[in-house]
Amino acid sequence: MELTLLGTGCPKVDYKRFGPSNLLSTIDAKILIDCGSGVTQRLDQLKVSSADIDALFLTHLHSDHVVDLYQLIISSWHSYRIKPWKIFGPKGTKKFVMKVMDAFKNERNLRIKYESRSSTKAFKILVNEFKSYGKIKIKDLNIEYFEVDHRPVKYAYGFSFFNKNKKLTISGDTRPCENLIRRAQNADVLLHEVFIDGELKKTNKMRTNKTLHNVRSYHTPSTIVGKVGQLTKCKKLVLTHLVPTVFNEIKLKKTVKRDFGKNPIIGKDLLKIRI
Ligand SMILES: [Zn+2]
Ligand SMILES: [Zn+2]
Repeated sequence: MELTLLGTGCPKVDYKRFGPSNLLSTIDAKILIDCGSGVTQRLDQLKVSSADIDALFLTHLHSDHVVDLYQLIISSWHSYRIKPWKIFGPKGTKKFVMKVMDAFKNERNLRIKYESRSSTKAFKILVNEFKSYGKIKIKDLNIEYFEVDHRPVKYAYGFSFFNKNKKLTISGDTRPCENLIRRAQNADVLLHEVFIDGELKKTNKMRTNKTLHNVRSYHTPSTIVGKVGQLTKCKKLVLTHLVPTVFNEIKLKKTVKRDFGKNPIIGKDLLKIRI
């Protein structure tokens, strides 16, 4: 399988690091994981059509991970998608999708009527909500979803993808999490989020010490993510969801290597990883 990082950023706008999103491709399947800001532009850069995506998996419903959902759906219609969307996400996904679709209902109906395209299947959306743990098969991909700890977000998930005896685990947004460590054992690649210690500074009013403390405490600090990687015995540790988006790369590698034993791969938008 091949993992392409579409967006390695966070809510903060950065044209080099778009919002969180990843593409996973196998011989038969194309899966999107999250649809953060800029997902369709990145797919376009890769020459992958949103008409061909088999399923969208959502780690959680934080806006940075789902903000381009409507853009993804409407652009798939423009790309002549002729099959419904399959979306897998946490509890609340059905309601969320319904509300998003509803917000654009009038303009969509007007377009459908006026533009007279051959299919409206792209607007049929099948949503499956996760339990605490489960398995899903999409073409030649076996997928396992499991809970991670991103409290106060109540429902947040990580995923393991299996194809041809290879394993990719994606952490989603999480603080250091035992369940993730258990589920990521011996992964060929662990794609993990990170909060980079010492890089975010307090600013007047908008970012207080409490803001910094709280943001850090529902993510995985750079001083711990190497340990997580080491405990999973993963072969490669790839860092994404970089908070902040601009930082000292050499320092980050050094910090993580201390615990992980090897250099991590610092994620970049459009980086491809063969697994
Ligand atoms: Zn996030
Ligand atoms: Zn989040």
